[in-house]
Amino acid sequence: MATQFIDKARITVRAGNGGNGAVAFHREKYVAAGGPDGGDGGRGGSIILQVDDNLSTLMDFRYKRKYVATSGQDGQGARRTGKDGQDLIIRVPRGTLVRDAETQEIIKDMSDSTPFVLCRGGRGGWGNCHFATPTRQVPRFAKGGLPGESHDVTLELKLLADVGLIGFPNVGKSTLLSVVSKAQPKIANYHFTTLYPNLGVVWVEDGVSFVMADIPGIIEGASEGAGLGHDFLRHIDRCRLLVHVVDVSGCEGRDPVDDFDAINEELKQYSEELSTRPQIVCANKTDILEPDSDNLTRLREHVEALGYPLLELSAATHQGARQLVDKVAEMLSTLPPVTVYEPEYVPKPPVVDTSAPLDIQHEDGVWFVEGPWLQRVMSNTNFADYESRMYFDRSLRESGLFQQLEEMGIQDGDTVSMYDFEFTYQK
Ligand code: GDP
Ligand code: MG
Repeated sequence: MATQFIDKARITVRAGNGGNGAVAFHREKYVAAGGPDGGDGGRGGSIILQVDDNLSTLMDFRYKRKYVATSGQDGQGARRTGKDGQDLIIRVPRGTLVRDAETQEIIKDMSDSTPFVLCRGGRGGWGNCHFATPTRQVPRFAKGGLPGESHDVTLELKLLADVGLIGFPNVGKSTLLSVVSKAQPKIANYHFTTLYPNLGVVWVEDGVSFVMADIPGIIEGASEGAGLGHDFLRHIDRCRLLVHVVDVSGCEGRDPVDDFDAINEELKQYSEELSTRPQIVCANKTDILEPDSDNLTRLREHVEALGYPLLELSAATHQGARQLVDKVAEMLSTLPPVTVYEPEYVPKPPVVDTSAPLDIQHEDGVWFVEGPWLQRVMSNTNFADYESRMYFDRSLRESGLFQQLEEMGIQDGDTVSMYDFEFTYQK
């Protein structure tokens, strides 16, 4: 296949690291000993996802698989904070599902236009201006920035359309879409002309419109992966209504009733739930129906007995197109909105070995605590989030840190200082 439609991709994203805090001292003429004035490091840039309606495939992700936001700059003297790293905005087509690459759980359904922060940049380290105490007026240290979050994710496009066109190849699905919308899908008297999904907006009347998706034709055995159709069925997963196009002309020597049943059987194999989705049956190519053919009557009796409405159409001459659009709009007005998937993925805190000893320095009622595992736990802690804070607290408790501080003589009201976080100790 010359141009392959890419609707799945796996990428690695990494937010920027926080900049380091600076060690600097105030210098001024006639001022003998200036105080510490090293500024904080800037925050690392975040990875942000944003829907872009100019995109219709995940093609870009096939060639570029790694996305890294810039780090925050280091702090400087005169209390100057380092510049924050730039956020990296990754544009995705509407309807992209973002999943954790390992568990395949949904992190986010990119269906609306709100930007989504996938990975947060690391916080900047504190400059030495934070660390002056009455007895330590020349703190010669600052803190390093915290690492940015990173994640391996898969992107999967599941089109966002109200109506999905289904049917055998060559029955006239693409023609129908081109007749009722401005979309210009490829049309030809050839099986599998449509190799990737097309979306079209169908205007019904002022303020009323819907989105229709044309997917490659389903063939028998598609649900078992035998043909082209299988992969594409997921693009109609979210559709509220299916328009099932059947060629009643018999021009290809097929039987419309058999075709109708075969497609429904394929849907059922793929997903029981999808096979119960409301359908409008569209009997197409009525312009070339032989006068003595009973195809239309037989199909009508068959589908109406099953409870589906049937409309006659000639996509070629537009006969019946308006009625079909009105019928679709009428049914849509009674149906629930397009499915938006709820997130399933719960960020798991990193497994850290808290048994490694921490470096504890005590100066003037302030206890400075540092260590590699603490840095890791903290870079994964969102202090604005209760759950996250509780996890942080638990890690500290489990590590035996508080007991150690007690043994070293910590008093109620002393300050515990960890990277860019401080709290007052209370037994
Ligand atoms: P798809 O594979 O279902 O998307 O089918 P297409 O829309 O590509 O159409 C397949 C062929 O059938 C093309 O040659 C169309 O021109 C033709 N066709 C589509 N609708 C009609 C129709 O209502 N009447 C006639 N006579 N031909 C049609
Ligand atoms: Mg087509």
